[in-house]
Amino acid sequence: MSIEFESPKPLMQAQFMLKTVGEEMIRPKSRYFDEHEHEIPWDYIEFMHLAMKASGGSSLVPRENGNNSEDKEKRAPIGYQLVATQIESLAWGDLGFYHCLPGGALGAAAIHAAGTPEQKEKFLARFKDEKPTFAAMCITESGAGSDNSAIRTRAVLDEETNEWVINGEKIFVTGGDKSFSEYEKLGKGFIVVWATIDPTSGRAGMRAFVIEGGTSGVRIVKLEHKLGIRCSDTAAISLVDARVPFENILGSPTVEKTTTGFKGAMATFDATRPLVAASGIGVARAALEFLKEKLAENGVQVRYGLPRQKLTAIERDVIDMEIMLKSAWLMVIKAVWMADNKKPNALEASMSKVKSGDVTTKITQKVVEILGPLGYSREFLAEKWMRDARITDIYEGTGQINRLVVARQILGYSGSELR
Ligand SMILES: Cc1cc2nc3c(=O)[nH]c(=O)nc-3n(C[C@H](O)[C@H](O)[C@H](O)COP(=O)(O)OP(=O)(O)OC[C@H]3O[C@@H](n4cnc5c(N)ncnc54)[C@H](O)[C@@H]3O)c2cc1C
Repeated sequence: MSIEFESPKPLMQAQFMLKTVGEEMIRPKSRYFDEHEHEIPWDYIEFMHLAMKASGGSSLVPRENGNNSEDKEKRAPIGYQLVATQIESLAWGDLGFYHCLPGGALGAAAIHAAGTPEQKEKFLARFKDEKPTFAAMCITESGAGSDNSAIRTRAVLDEETNEWVINGEKIFVTGGDKSFSEYEKLGKGFIVVWATIDPTSGRAGMRAFVIEGGTSGVRIVKLEHKLGIRCSDTAAISLVDARVPFENILGSPTVEKTTTGFKGAMATFDATRPLVAASGIGVARAALEFLKEKLAENGVQVRYGLPRQKLTAIERDVIDMEIMLKSAWLMVIKAVWMADNKKPNALEASMSKVKSGDVTTKITQKVVEILGPLGYSREFLAEKWMRDARITDIYEGTGQINRLVVARQILGYSGSELR
């Protein structure tokens, strides 16, 4: 048996295509949208929507191998691996633009992880419509971020109308505005809101609800001004007596003490954490490539193969960063390979995110350090990449929280035993 390290053809094609998009369409606009926070890159959104439709997809959602059964048997599944590669390539162009890619994002991932076949059909089909469409997921509240079990948003069933009545406040919702507000150029999106149906049951009482864009009682109250990924909208959302059809609940409407509603959120993160890790690696690769380009322009070439003591400090730094980047990418590949092969990957998903968050933060900072004033100047994108990169170690579980998840998995502790 041999181990194959060469990328499968569909991955290489995606990399080639998205590199061109990154170079020709995204990078020239990167600085503009960094400096004009909350403007929406419509040309890019419309182009990517058409491009994804033309290639048979509606968003970056893992797909099974081809329909041909012979094909399915022969080829190993690479759906998640392909998505991770696409995300890495798009984030190499610009992390904020990656977040402006039309599609279901975390909102659709929650439905994939916790929805019934009927819910999947009802809510996911719209991403193939004529207009680009967005979805978002809202868990975080002012008193509940790392500790999601503290959420106070409440869903109560109105038995007369058979509707859920939801009250609460959500903050830091990526893509919340594009998913909920009505824009002429966009299709009707939705937000997936986590709430408790029984505050006395802790995590067992948590459920997610699909709330259609424009639902009355739901309001975007603020768009965050941020350090980085400024072209991605990050919304605060208030829900006052928002009415949601009974069937929009993801998971069971009753609380059984043996099941935890929170499992749906965790399953979502097992799928998406390696993808966040992949996005960070894209930014770090952009920074490292830029550094090598600038060094080469100044006559500095890294002399691979020399003993370490014969290298300059900068050569050692570059080689160390390349090692960090490759090892982080291999952890992503392991986590998505497990997802593709339907193996439980909670440990590997969190490990890949911890590693990538660390590596991405360190590399982008080091690149700014080595470039000196060129790194600090807004003439180049290195300082922007350093700002953008920081978020990959914050959202979908901070570095500290993912370290806790890893430790619990390895040591066999529950959430309440190790926190
Ligand atoms: C740009 C952006 C986009 C986001 N998008 C979304 C989104 O789409 N949907 C959504 O629901 N949320 C989103 N978030 C929220 C994000 O997931 C949370 O900010 C994050 O999980 C941290 O939670 P917190 O803000 O409450 O911080 P806190 O939990 O208060 O953490 C503060 C610090 O304390 C540390 N800490 C907390 N608990 C522990 C512990 N037990 N051990 C050690 N250290 C600990 C944390 O690691 C962190 O360093 C987004 C946030 C940002 C900034």
